[in-house]
Amino acid sequence: MSNPLLPHYDVIIIGAGSVGVPAALNLARNRVKTLVIDQYPSVGQGSNKRAIGGIRATHSDPAKISLSQRSIDIFSTWKDLYGDDIEWVQGGYCFVAYTDKEENSFKNLLVSQHKFGLNINWLDKKELLQVVPDLNPDGLLGGTFSPEDGNASPLLALHAFYQRAVKDGAEFHFQEQVKEIKTAAGKIQGVSTDQGDYSAEVVINAAGGWAEEIDELVGIKLPVRPDSHEAAITEPVQRFLNPMIVDVRPEPGSANYYFYQHTTGQIIFCITPSPSIWGFDTRETSKFLPMVSKRMIEVMPRLKNIRVRRTWRGAYPMTPDGFPIIGWSKSVDGYLLATGMCGQGFMLGPGLGELLERLVCDHLTEKDKEILPYVSPYREFAGQEQLK
Ligand SMILES: Cc1cc2nc3c(=O)[nH]c(=O)nc-3n(C[C@H](O)[C@H](O)[C@H](O)COP(=O)(O)OP(=O)(O)OC[C@H]3O[C@@H](n4cnc5c(N)ncnc54)[C@H](O)[C@@H]3O)c2cc1C
Repeated sequence: MSNPLLPHYDVIIIGAGSVGVPAALNLARNRVKTLVIDQYPSVGQGSNKRAIGGIRATHSDPAKISLSQRSIDIFSTWKDLYGDDIEWVQGGYCFVAYTDKEENSFKNLLVSQHKFGLNINWLDKKELLQVVPDLNPDGLLGGTFSPEDGNASPLLALHAFYQRAVKDGAEFHFQEQVKEIKTAAGKIQGVSTDQGDYSAEVVINAAGGWAEEIDELVGIKLPVRPDSHEAAITEPVQRFLNPMIVDVRPEPGSANYYFYQHTTGQIIFCITPSPSIWGFDTRETSKFLPMVSKRMIEVMPRLKNIRVRRTWRGAYPMTPDGFPIIGWSKSVDGYLLATGMCGQGFMLGPGLGELLERLVCDHLTEKDKEILPYVSPYREFAGQEQLK
């Protein structure tokens, strides 16, 4: 029995980020009494606001594909349904191939991507240059194009979800840090923060890069590490580019990088350091811009005179296999994991928010039951997501 003297909620969500806010929206909408607690002063101040806004369903496994497909439905219809402009643009994603290795790997992936119902195809060099005329044609073999993918503003989207969640009855406590999770006889009882105690039957760990610290509060050890990534935005220029361009070729110092033109004209881009830089350090480095700009200009020479306006740095909450961790704890009754979103938490968030509501309210669909094993907290973490 939870303590009747404490403020009581059905669900407490730790983290008002890409995952916690859409989860609260769906729970509140379904009349579940929900409290979201975040250590920062407003929504999205962890990794969410560092995301560059890419949204794709083109992954390599059914769980991420299915969650992101649902997210795309939500992002793309949000303005019509609720009136908020979250800057959704359906420009597509394009994975470019300049070597046989990438061509073969993208073509192999297409088989399963088609099986999971994705609208994605291989375009040869000529076809691809019609979609992205500014790609460097030298050595270009072709690439995949998925026209239904797109981008939106992480801050505008999260703020819109937050406002709707509050309208539907969710409570948010900012500048409050969860210090303890109370359990009794293996069951969740509530949480203690630096400002008070609350009782609840369910606690959702949506703490992003801090997920391990939260798991430790209930004696669970799951692998989520903050993995530092940098991004940048240029001055705005006239529109010339529709899809997000992704180049997965590794080079010394970096793995893949990706960029797109925002609806207001700026180019926004990001690179994956190799080896990874672990930790929460958000100070920009002097290596990032020379490394990424050289690579981008090679693939799109037209970018060579554009001026960069700002860079920033943040954390991917990384798992060893590149897949998220979603599901109930078997050792602590009422403890639900929604962690390890890697570089895709913004795009997974809205679809995942609905799934978390179905987990809490116990009305999983057949599809949910099919995909949950892929993201189970109890998997081996031995595989490798190919498009992480
Ligand atoms: C440079 C960069 C580019 C990216 N680009 C993309 C992209 O294009 N598309 C995409 O989908 N993803 C992208 N990502 C990844 C995306 O930002 C993350 O996957 C996502 O934000 C993770 O969501 P989350 O809700 O798990 O964590 P967060 O959004 O970080 O939310 C977790 C929250 O938990 C709170 N918290 C933690 N511990 C406590 C505690 N003890 N008490 C109270 N509150 C607590 C934190 O304050 C934080 O607000 C990018 C990330 C970076 C860094």
